[in-house]
Amino acid sequence: SPVIWWVRRDLRLADNPVLHAAASSDRPVIALFICDPLVEGLGAAPKWRLGLGVARFARCLDDMGSKLILRRGDALTVLQQLIAQIGATAVWWGRQYDPDQVARDKKVKAALRDSGVDAQSFSGHLLFEPWQVQTGQGTFYQVYSPFWRAVKDLDVAPHLPAPECLRAPAQWPDSDSLADWGLGRAMNRGADVVHPHLHIGEDAARTRLAYFIDRNVADYQDQREFLDQDACSGLSENLTYGEISPGALWRAGQHALDAGKAGAAHFLKEIVWREFAYHLIFHTPHIVSRNWRDGWDSFPWSNDGTGVLRWKQGRTGIDVIDAAMRELYVTGRMHNRARMLVASYLTKHMLTHWRVGQDWFAQCLVDWDPAANAMGWQWVAGSGPDAAPYFRIFNPDTQARKFDPEGRYRRKWLAEISASAPETAQAFFRACPRSWQLSPQMARPNPLVDLAEGRKIALQAYDIKNKT
Ligand code: FAD
Repeated sequence: SPVIWWVRRDLRLADNPVLHAAASSDRPVIALFICDPLVEGLGAAPKWRLGLGVARFARCLDDMGSKLILRRGDALTVLQQLIAQIGATAVWWGRQYDPDQVARDKKVKAALRDSGVDAQSFSGHLLFEPWQVQTGQGTFYQVYSPFWRAVKDLDVAPHLPAPECLRAPAQWPDSDSLADWGLGRAMNRGADVVHPHLHIGEDAARTRLAYFIDRNVADYQDQREFLDQDACSGLSENLTYGEISPGALWRAGQHALDAGKAGAAHFLKEIVWREFAYHLIFHTPHIVSRNWRDGWDSFPWSNDGTGVLRWKQGRTGIDVIDAAMRELYVTGRMHNRARMLVASYLTKHMLTHWRVGQDWFAQCLVDWDPAANAMGWQWVAGSGPDAAPYFRIFNPDTQARKFDPEGRYRRKWLAEISASAPETAQAFFRACPRSWQLSPQMARPNPLVDLAEGRKIALQAYDIKNKT
């Protein structure tokens, strides 16, 4: 009887433990993607990007004589209907770890098992399962450095080759049409503005990894902080949809290190930041919605709607912040250091709750990841695990001088500061909503918050929190 492979964020053929098990079972395999309420609820950019990934992956399955079946609705209901329709006795999937997906998957697993179905989840999204890594006291890690030391020498699962073919069922069940789902409906700037910046699918991800290892990994540690350098892997976009496995990055990094490319050591550490984010989201799921640290609920956040809109528009008057916010809107991505700077500016200089920024990133990022985004925002705000001391407030101007010394990043994304703005900077004005009424000819606004004054206010707010 057929196995249903419930495809989620594992849109790849190689290094995929569920697929490997299904292909080795010698049973017919029906790959199924469900547009369930959690998919419906994604932000505009990640939902659109997921649709592109699903379309590409469906073509890969077609090429090997298989198919991706698409169905919409509550996941359990869809699975039960398909099981009844085709007489499947097994449903297998790759594990996810954020609270919403964990709750859904537990319900699905229990209900299917109650009805005698072989419901199983597999690893593959992470290098190490979150429960596999424990402190000496048997608890989870709350600080990155000891987490790193605990995992750095662990064995990582070996590479699993892509199966050459999958056994087809006697008859294919019917499938929705992806276009009818309208996954890109809320994305006002998909096709013409953001699309050219994407690397969609497993082949693109592998090519990108090879390019990075060949060209950039050796100098990664020295170059990665510079805002206008193409020094990072750019693979977060693919990792989030499972178009490449973390194991592929890990093994490539290890090989590069063995070959004397020193920067690879730092690359491995960054991959482990992603693992740490998942370790935290699994053990402390409230990280996505509430202050991770006790004592933060009394922080006196301000509620300046106009200021927040200006932050989203790249109109705070601080060039590096505005350039970064434009990069986000136009490419669906943002340099890691720029993410830290805009998050610090919003939560500290503007005293705006980190959830406001977390939500905007969840709308705009094509690499949106529930664990990394929540950890990143809480880390910068100070309410999160292993956060930097609160008083270390980034000064965006100093940071820009250090990491964009010639202003190339700022000119690349901020049209208003150059006489002949490059296409990258102009694209924002084609992309942004008309209701924003913005044009590249507009004068630069005065800073929303004076940097020294903003720092003072942030420190006062921290004192208020500590006294309440
Ligand atoms: P590389 O430098 O090539 O690093 C390789 C991989 O390591 C990345 O692809 C990523 O998977 C992982 N990684 C690197 N840095 C981090 C980090 N700080 N935290 C967790 N994993 C990391 N990353 C996301 O993937 N999705 C998000 O939604 C996200 N939101 C963030 C929000 C804030 C406020 C901050 C400060 C960081 C956020 N990050 C997020 C982390 C980081 O900015 C991106 O992972 C990184 O910029 C991706 O670029 P890259 O693939 O070229 O990374």
